[in-house]
Amino acid sequence: MKYAFINGTILDGTKDMEPVTGKAVLTDGDKIVDIVNNEEVPDGYEKIDLNGSYLLPGLIDLHVHLALSGEPPKADSKPKDYTKLYNLLTGNKIVRFFAKRLVSGYAKTEVMSGVTTIRTVGGILDFDAQVRDEINKGKLVGPRILCANTGISVPGGHFAGSIAMPVSSPEEAKQLVRETAKTDPDLIKLMITGGVMDSDEKGMPGVLKMSPDIVKAACEEAHELGFKVAAHVESSEGVKVALENGVDSIEHGATPDDEIIKLFKDRKAVDICTLSPAIPYAKFELSESHATEAAKHNGEIVLEGIMECAKTCIENDIPVGLGSDVSCPFVTHYNFWRELYYFNKYIGRSKKETLHRATLGNATIAGIDSETGSIEAGKSADMIVVKNNPLIDLTTLRNVSMVMTRGILIRDPKNKKMKHIDEVLDRYM
Ligand SMILES: [Zn+2]
Repeated sequence: MKYAFINGTILDGTKDMEPVTGKAVLTDGDKIVDIVNNEEVPDGYEKIDLNGSYLLPGLIDLHVHLALSGEPPKADSKPKDYTKLYNLLTGNKIVRFFAKRLVSGYAKTEVMSGVTTIRTVGGILDFDAQVRDEINKGKLVGPRILCANTGISVPGGHFAGSIAMPVSSPEEAKQLVRETAKTDPDLIKLMITGGVMDSDEKGMPGVLKMSPDIVKAACEEAHELGFKVAAHVESSEGVKVALENGVDSIEHGATPDDEIIKLFKDRKAVDICTLSPAIPYAKFELSESHATEAAKHNGEIVLEGIMECAKTCIENDIPVGLGSDVSCPFVTHYNFWRELYYFNKYIGRSKKETLHRATLGNATIAGIDSETGSIEAGKSADMIVVKNNPLIDLTTLRNVSMVMTRGILIRDPKNKKMKHIDEVLDRYM
Protein backbone atom coordinates (compact mmCIF):
# COMPACT_ATOMS: atom_id res chain seq x y z
CA MET A 1 0.00 0.00 0.00
CA LYS A 2 1.08 3.56 -0.78
CA TYR A 3 -0.07 6.36 1.52
CA ALA A 4 0.37 10.12 1.50
CA PHE A 5 -0.06 11.82 4.87
CA ILE A 6 -1.15 15.30 3.84
CA ASN A 7 -1.94 18.55 5.68
CA GLY A 8 -0.20 17.44 8.85
CA THR A 9 2.36 19.22 11.00
CA ILE A 10 5.52 17.15 10.92
CA LEU A 11 7.90 16.77 13.84
CA ASP A 12 10.63 14.55 12.48
CA GLY A 13 12.29 13.37 15.71
CA THR A 14 15.69 14.90 15.04
CA LYS A 15 17.51 16.92 17.69
CA ASP A 16 16.56 20.36 16.36
CA MET A 17 13.11 19.44 15.03
CA GLU A 18 10.64 22.24 14.41
CA PRO A 19 7.03 21.82 13.30
CA VAL A 20 6.91 21.66 9.50
CA THR A 21 3.69 22.35 7.58
CA GLY A 22 2.85 22.22 3.90
CA LYS A 23 4.55 18.87 3.40
CA ALA A 24 3.23 15.37 2.74
CA VAL A 25 4.95 12.20 3.94
CA LEU A 26 4.80 9.38 1.40
CA THR A 27 5.01 5.74 2.40
CA ASP A 28 5.27 2.70 0.19
CA GLY A 29 5.03 -0.68 1.87
CA ASP A 30 7.04 -0.56 5.08
CA LYS A 31 9.13 2.50 4.14
CA ILE A 32 8.91 6.27 4.14
CA VAL A 33 9.85 7.00 0.54
CA ASP A 34 9.66 10.77 0.22
CA ILE A 35 8.55 14.04 1.76
CA VAL A 36 7.03 16.38 -0.85
CA ASN A 37 4.88 19.51 -0.97
CA ASN A 38 1.21 18.82 -0.21
CA GLU A 39 0.23 19.78 -3.77
CA GLU A 40 2.82 17.51 -5.34
CA VAL A 41 1.68 14.08 -4.17
CA PRO A 42 2.15 11.76 -7.15
CA ASP A 43 -0.67 9.52 -8.42
CA GLY A 44 -1.13 6.13 -6.85
CA TYR A 45 -1.04 7.22 -3.19
CA GLU A 46 -4.03 6.97 -0.89
CA LYS A 47 -4.30 10.39 0.73
CA ILE A 48 -4.76 10.63 4.47
CA ASP A 49 -5.77 14.15 5.45
CA LEU A 50 -4.36 14.96 8.89
CA ASN A 51 -6.17 18.31 9.16
CA GLY A 52 -3.29 19.98 10.96
CA SER A 53 -2.70 17.15 13.45
CA TYR A 54 0.89 16.34 14.36
CA LEU A 55 2.78 13.54 12.65
CA LEU A 56 5.80 12.24 14.55
CA PRO A 57 7.98 9.14 14.69
CA GLY A 58 6.63 6.18 16.62
CA LEU A 59 7.90 6.18 20.20
CA ILE A 60 10.64 3.80 21.34
CA ASP A 61 10.60 2.33 24.85
CA LEU A 62 13.97 0.87 25.79
CA HIS A 63 12.96 -0.89 29.00
CA VAL A 64 9.97 -3.21 28.74
CA HIS A 65 8.90 -6.46 30.36
CA LEU A 66 6.11 -8.23 28.48
CA ALA A 67 5.35 -10.33 31.52
CA LEU A 68 2.71 -8.53 33.60
CA SER A 69 0.00 -5.91 33.17
CA GLY A 70 1.21 -3.34 35.72
CA GLU A 71 -1.68 -4.06 38.07
CA PRO A 72 -0.55 -2.88 41.53
CA PRO A 73 -0.91 -5.02 44.66
CA LYS A 74 -4.22 -4.94 46.49
CA ALA A 75 -4.46 -3.48 50.00
CA ASP A 76 -3.02 -5.82 52.65
CA SER A 77 -2.04 -8.39 50.04
CA LYS A 78 0.99 -10.55 50.63
CA PRO A 79 4.02 -9.75 48.46
CA LYS A 80 3.74 -11.51 45.11
CA ASP A 81 5.70 -14.73 44.77
CA TYR A 82 7.04 -14.28 41.24
CA THR A 83 8.68 -17.70 41.07
CA LYS A 84 5.36 -19.31 41.90
CA LEU A 85 3.62 -17.17 39.29
CA TYR A 86 6.28 -18.06 36.74
CA ASN A 87 5.88 -21.77 37.43
CA LEU A 88 2.14 -21.38 37.08
CA LEU A 89 2.54 -19.68 33.69
CA THR A 90 5.06 -22.14 32.30
CA GLY A 91 4.17 -25.46 33.97
CA ASN A 92 2.69 -27.19 30.92
CA LYS A 93 1.96 -26.72 27.25
CA ILE A 94 -1.56 -25.39 27.75
CA VAL A 95 -0.66 -22.68 30.27
CA ARG A 96 2.37 -21.75 28.15
CA PHE A 97 0.03 -21.24 25.22
CA PHE A 98 -2.07 -18.80 27.22
CA ALA A 99 0.96 -17.12 28.80
CA LYS A 100 2.39 -16.44 25.36
CA ARG A 101 -0.94 -15.05 24.27
CA LEU A 102 -0.80 -12.63 27.20
CA VAL A 103 2.69 -11.56 26.10
CA SER A 104 1.59 -10.96 22.51
CA GLY A 105 -1.45 -9.05 23.80
CA TYR A 106 0.79 -6.74 25.81
CA ALA A 107 2.95 -6.19 22.71
CA LYS A 108 -0.15 -5.22 20.76
CA THR A 109 -1.16 -2.77 23.50
CA GLU A 110 2.26 -1.12 23.18
CA VAL A 111 1.84 -0.42 19.48
CA MET A 112 -1.76 0.72 19.88
CA SER A 113 -0.48 3.36 22.32
CA GLY A 114 2.02 4.71 19.80
CA VAL A 115 5.12 2.75 20.79
CA THR A 116 6.42 1.22 17.56
CA THR A 117 9.67 -0.22 18.96
CA ILE A 118 10.36 -1.87 22.30
CA ARG A 119 13.46 -3.35 23.83
CA THR A 120 12.57 -6.09 26.29
CA VAL A 121 14.91 -6.76 29.20
CA GLY A 122 13.73 -9.89 30.95
CA GLY A 123 10.76 -12.03 30.06
CA ILE A 124 9.15 -15.44 30.31
CA LEU A 125 11.15 -18.19 28.55
CA ASP A 126 11.76 -17.15 24.92
CA PHE A 127 8.24 -15.76 24.40
CA ASP A 128 9.56 -12.28 23.54
CA ALA A 129 11.62 -13.68 20.64
CA GLN A 130 8.71 -15.83 19.47
CA VAL A 131 6.36 -12.85 19.50
CA ARG A 132 9.02 -10.70 17.77
CA ASP A 133 9.32 -13.27 14.98
CA GLU A 134 5.56 -13.62 14.54
CA ILE A 135 5.18 -9.84 14.32
CA ASN A 136 8.03 -9.72 11.78
CA LYS A 137 6.27 -12.35 9.69
CA GLY A 138 3.01 -10.39 9.82
CA LYS A 139 1.19 -13.04 11.87
CA LEU A 140 0.64 -10.65 14.79
CA VAL A 141 0.26 -6.88 15.07
CA GLY A 142 2.87 -5.36 17.34
CA PRO A 143 5.93 -3.18 17.64
CA ARG A 144 9.44 -3.93 16.44
CA ILE A 145 10.96 -5.94 19.28
CA LEU A 146 14.54 -6.17 20.42
CA CYS A 147 14.57 -8.75 23.18
CA ALA A 148 16.75 -10.21 25.89
CA ASN A 149 14.42 -13.15 26.60
CA THR A 150 15.19 -14.53 30.07
CA GLY A 151 17.67 -12.50 32.09
CA ILE A 152 20.56 -13.71 34.23
CA SER A 153 20.49 -13.30 38.02
CA VAL A 154 22.02 -15.00 41.06
CA PRO A 155 20.37 -17.08 43.80
CA GLY A 156 18.24 -14.66 45.84
CA GLY A 157 18.88 -11.94 43.26
CA HIS A 158 16.49 -9.67 41.37
CA PHE A 159 13.70 -11.77 39.86
CA ALA A 160 15.74 -14.97 40.13
CA GLY A 161 13.53 -17.88 39.15
CA SER A 162 11.05 -15.94 37.01
CA ILE A 163 12.10 -13.47 34.32
CA ALA A 164 15.76 -14.21 35.14
CA MET A 165 17.52 -17.44 36.03
CA PRO A 166 20.18 -17.72 38.73
CA VAL A 167 23.84 -18.62 38.23
CA SER A 168 26.35 -19.25 41.02
CA SER A 169 29.74 -19.04 39.32
CA PRO A 170 31.50 -17.45 36.34
CA GLU A 171 31.38 -20.81 34.53
CA GLU A 172 27.62 -21.07 35.06
CA ALA A 173 27.22 -17.49 33.87
CA LYS A 174 29.05 -18.26 30.62
CA GLN A 175 26.99 -21.41 30.18
CA LEU A 176 23.69 -19.55 30.69
CA VAL A 177 24.73 -16.82 28.24
CA ARG A 178 25.37 -19.55 25.66
CA GLU A 179 22.01 -21.18 26.40
CA THR A 180 20.23 -17.83 26.20
CA ALA A 181 21.98 -17.14 22.89
CA LYS A 182 20.31 -20.27 21.50
CA THR A 183 16.89 -18.64 22.12
CA ASP A 184 17.85 -15.98 19.54
CA PRO A 185 17.81 -12.81 21.68
CA ASP A 186 19.00 -9.37 20.54
CA LEU A 187 20.83 -8.58 23.79
CA ILE A 188 21.69 -10.13 27.15
CA LYS A 189 20.24 -8.87 30.44
CA LEU A 190 21.92 -9.13 33.84
CA MET A 191 20.38 -8.46 37.24
CA ILE A 192 23.35 -7.09 39.16
CA THR A 193 21.73 -5.51 42.21
CA GLY A 194 18.47 -5.91 44.05
CA GLY A 195 15.60 -3.52 43.52
CA VAL A 196 12.80 -1.78 45.35
CA MET A 197 10.51 -4.70 44.64
CA ASP A 198 12.70 -7.26 46.37
CA SER A 199 13.91 -5.51 49.47
CA ASP A 200 11.98 -5.17 52.65
CA GLU A 201 14.82 -3.56 54.50
CA LYS A 202 15.01 0.21 54.73
CA GLY A 203 17.94 1.71 52.85
CA MET A 204 18.77 -1.51 51.02
CA PRO A 205 17.17 -1.22 47.57
CA GLY A 206 20.16 -1.69 45.31
CA VAL A 207 22.39 -4.08 47.21
CA LEU A 208 25.04 -5.73 45.07
CA LYS A 209 23.97 -9.33 44.52
CA MET A 210 26.02 -10.47 41.54
CA SER A 211 29.76 -10.77 42.17
CA PRO A 212 32.13 -8.89 39.84
CA ASP A 213 33.64 -12.11 38.46
CA ILE A 214 30.19 -13.33 37.39
CA VAL A 215 29.42 -9.98 35.74
CA LYS A 216 32.77 -10.14 33.94
CA ALA A 217 32.30 -13.71 32.74
CA ALA A 218 28.76 -13.04 31.48
CA CYS A 219 29.83 -9.87 29.65
CA GLU A 220 32.85 -11.55 28.06
CA GLU A 221 30.77 -14.44 26.78
CA ALA A 222 27.99 -12.15 25.55
CA HIS A 223 30.44 -9.88 23.73
CA GLU A 224 32.19 -12.90 22.26
CA LEU A 225 28.84 -13.98 20.81
CA GLY A 226 28.10 -10.47 19.52
CA PHE A 227 25.55 -9.31 22.10
CA LYS A 228 25.43 -6.11 24.10
CA VAL A 229 24.74 -6.40 27.80
CA ALA A 230 22.07 -4.44 29.65
CA ALA A 231 22.10 -4.58 33.44
CA HIS A 232 19.59 -3.83 36.16
CA VAL A 233 21.53 -1.64 38.60
CA GLU A 234 20.14 0.47 41.45
CA SER A 235 23.14 1.47 43.56
CA SER A 236 26.37 3.36 42.95
CA GLU A 237 28.42 0.33 43.96
CA GLY A 238 26.45 -1.74 41.46
CA VAL A 239 27.02 0.79 38.67
CA LYS A 240 30.78 0.61 39.29
CA VAL A 241 30.83 -3.17 39.25
CA ALA A 242 28.72 -3.19 36.08
CA LEU A 243 30.85 -0.71 34.16
CA GLU A 244 34.19 -2.08 35.36
CA ASN A 245 33.23 -5.53 34.14
CA GLY A 246 31.84 -4.85 30.71
CA VAL A 247 28.16 -3.85 30.90
CA ASP A 248 27.02 -1.68 27.98
CA SER A 249 23.86 -0.13 29.38
CA ILE A 250 22.97 0.78 32.94
CA GLU A 251 19.24 0.27 33.41
CA HIS A 252 17.73 2.57 36.09
CA GLY A 253 21.04 3.89 37.50
CA ALA A 254 22.18 5.42 40.79
CA THR A 255 23.87 8.58 42.02
CA PRO A 256 27.17 8.79 40.13
CA ASP A 257 30.54 10.14 41.25
CA ASP A 258 33.50 11.24 39.09
CA GLU A 259 34.76 7.68 38.84
CA ILE A 260 31.42 6.43 37.53
CA ILE A 261 31.23 9.20 34.94
CA LYS A 262 34.73 8.31 33.78
CA LEU A 263 33.74 4.64 33.57
CA PHE A 264 30.65 5.49 31.51
CA LYS A 265 32.85 7.43 29.08
CA ASP A 266 35.68 4.91 28.90
CA ARG A 267 33.25 2.06 28.30
CA LYS A 268 31.10 4.14 25.91
CA ALA A 269 28.21 2.91 28.06
CA VAL A 270 24.72 4.41 28.17
CA ASP A 271 22.18 5.11 30.88
CA ILE A 272 18.53 4.12 30.56
CA CYS A 273 16.42 6.34 32.79
CA THR A 274 13.24 4.75 34.16
CA LEU A 275 11.14 7.09 36.30
CA SER A 276 7.73 5.42 35.92
CA PRO A 277 8.34 2.48 38.29
CA ALA A 278 9.97 4.58 41.03
CA ILE A 279 7.40 7.39 41.22
CA PRO A 280 4.51 5.33 42.65
CA TYR A 281 6.76 3.92 45.40
CA ALA A 282 8.36 7.26 46.21
CA LYS A 283 5.45 9.68 45.84
CA PHE A 284 2.17 7.85 46.48
CA GLU A 285 0.60 7.60 49.89
CA LEU A 286 0.97 4.06 51.27
CA SER A 287 -2.83 3.78 51.16
CA GLU A 288 -2.59 4.26 47.39
CA SER A 289 0.56 2.31 46.48
CA HIS A 290 -0.17 -0.52 48.95
CA ALA A 291 3.60 -0.72 49.34
CA THR A 292 5.42 -1.23 52.62
CA GLU A 293 6.99 1.67 54.46
CA ALA A 294 10.41 0.24 53.60
CA ALA A 295 9.51 0.09 49.91
CA LYS A 296 8.43 3.74 49.97
CA HIS A 297 11.67 4.76 51.66
CA ASN A 298 13.70 2.68 49.19
CA GLY A 299 11.65 4.04 46.31
CA GLU A 300 12.67 7.55 47.32
CA ILE A 301 16.36 6.55 47.32
CA VAL A 302 16.05 4.83 43.94
CA LEU A 303 14.13 7.70 42.34
CA GLU A 304 16.77 10.15 43.54
CA GLY A 305 19.54 7.90 42.18
CA ILE A 306 17.84 7.46 38.79
CA MET A 307 17.37 11.23 38.50
CA GLU A 308 20.93 12.06 39.55
CA CYS A 309 22.34 9.47 37.16
CA ALA A 310 20.39 10.75 34.15
CA LYS A 311 21.07 14.41 34.90
CA THR A 312 24.81 13.93 35.45
CA CYS A 313 25.17 11.71 32.39
CA ILE A 314 23.45 14.32 30.20
CA GLU A 315 25.72 17.06 31.60
CA ASN A 316 28.67 14.88 30.60
CA ASP A 317 27.41 14.02 27.09
CA ILE A 318 26.79 10.38 27.99
CA PRO A 319 23.82 8.98 26.04
CA VAL A 320 20.66 8.75 28.15
CA GLY A 321 17.64 6.83 26.89
CA LEU A 322 14.08 6.51 28.16
CA GLY A 323 12.44 3.32 29.35
CA SER A 324 9.25 2.82 31.33
CA ASP A 325 9.90 -0.54 33.02
CA VAL A 326 6.40 -1.71 32.10
CA SER A 327 5.06 -4.56 34.25
CA CYS A 328 6.12 -2.89 37.50
CA PRO A 329 3.20 -1.84 39.72
CA PHE A 330 1.28 1.08 38.13
CA VAL A 331 3.28 0.88 34.88
CA THR A 332 0.90 -0.29 32.16
CA HIS A 333 1.58 -1.13 28.53
CA TYR A 334 -0.18 1.95 27.16
CA ASN A 335 1.40 4.62 29.35
CA PHE A 336 4.87 5.22 27.92
CA TRP A 337 3.83 8.83 27.31
CA ARG A 338 4.03 9.28 31.09
CA GLU A 339 7.74 8.48 31.05
CA LEU A 340 8.27 11.39 28.64
CA TYR A 341 6.14 13.60 30.85
CA TYR A 342 8.21 12.64 33.92
CA PHE A 343 11.51 13.05 32.06
CA ASN A 344 10.60 16.61 31.16
CA LYS A 345 9.39 17.33 34.70
CA TYR A 346 12.00 15.59 36.84
CA ILE A 347 15.13 15.52 34.66
CA GLY A 348 14.40 19.07 33.57
CA ARG A 349 15.10 18.67 29.86
CA SER A 350 12.95 20.47 27.28
CA LYS A 351 9.94 18.81 25.69
CA LYS A 352 11.74 18.86 22.36
CA GLU A 353 14.81 17.13 23.77
CA THR A 354 12.58 14.62 25.58
CA LEU A 355 10.69 13.74 22.39
CA HIS A 356 13.95 13.45 20.47
CA ARG A 357 15.40 11.14 23.12
CA ALA A 358 12.28 8.93 23.09
CA THR A 359 12.50 8.57 19.29
CA LEU A 360 15.74 9.03 17.37
CA GLY A 361 17.85 9.16 20.53
CA ASN A 362 16.55 5.81 21.74
CA ALA A 363 16.96 4.37 18.23
CA THR A 364 20.60 5.46 18.24
CA ILE A 365 21.20 3.85 21.64
CA ALA A 366 19.60 0.63 20.37
CA GLY A 367 21.73 0.72 17.21
CA ILE A 368 18.71 0.95 14.88
CA ASP A 369 18.86 4.65 13.98
CA SER A 370 19.48 3.92 10.30
CA GLU A 371 16.21 1.98 10.35
CA THR A 372 13.79 3.94 12.55
CA GLY A 373 13.40 6.82 15.04
CA SER A 374 12.78 9.72 12.66
CA ILE A 375 10.58 10.76 9.76
CA GLU A 376 13.06 10.73 6.90
CA ALA A 377 13.00 9.19 3.44
CA GLY A 378 14.40 5.68 3.53
CA LYS A 379 13.41 4.99 7.13
CA SER A 380 10.87 2.46 8.30
CA ALA A 381 7.29 3.80 8.20
CA ASP A 382 6.91 4.05 11.99
CA MET A 383 4.77 7.07 12.74
CA ILE A 384 2.05 8.33 15.03
CA VAL A 385 -0.53 11.09 14.82
CA VAL A 386 -1.55 13.25 17.77
CA LYS A 387 -3.90 16.22 17.90
CA ASN A 388 -1.76 18.88 19.54
CA ASN A 389 1.87 19.97 19.56
CA PRO A 390 3.86 17.73 21.96
CA LEU A 391 6.58 20.39 22.06
CA ILE A 392 4.03 22.49 23.98
CA ASP A 393 2.13 19.74 25.77
CA LEU A 394 3.49 16.20 26.09
CA THR A 395 0.17 14.91 27.44
CA THR A 396 -1.16 15.00 23.88
CA LEU A 397 0.78 11.73 23.43
CA ARG A 398 -1.77 10.12 25.73
CA ASN A 399 -4.29 9.92 22.90
CA VAL A 400 -2.75 8.72 19.69
CA SER A 401 -5.24 9.00 16.84
CA MET A 402 -3.34 6.94 14.28
CA VAL A 403 -0.36 4.59 14.26
CA MET A 404 1.71 3.30 11.41
CA THR A 405 4.07 0.49 12.29
CA ARG A 406 6.41 -0.65 9.54
CA GLY A 407 3.85 0.45 6.99
CA ILE A 408 0.84 -1.17 8.67
CA LEU A 409 -1.75 1.55 9.20
CA ILE A 410 -3.88 1.45 12.34
CA ARG A 411 -6.51 4.13 11.77
CA ASP A 412 -8.22 4.22 15.13
CA PRO A 413 -5.98 2.59 17.73
CA LYS A 414 -7.76 1.66 20.93
CA ASN A 415 -6.67 0.20 24.23
CA LYS A 416 -8.61 -0.91 27.25
CA LYS A 417 -7.41 1.43 29.99
CA MET A 418 -6.98 0.50 33.64
CA LYS A 419 -8.91 3.47 35.01
CA HIS A 420 -8.09 2.91 38.70
CA ILE A 421 -4.38 3.15 37.84
CA ASP A 422 -4.64 6.20 35.59
CA GLU A 423 -6.76 8.02 38.14
CA VAL A 424 -4.11 7.89 40.85
CA LEU A 425 -1.22 8.51 38.41
CA ASP A 426 -3.02 11.61 37.12
CA ARG A 427 -3.24 13.00 40.64
CA TYR A 428 0.57 12.87 40.93
CA MET A 429 1.40 14.44 37.58
ZN1 LIG B 1 13.06 -3.76 34.53
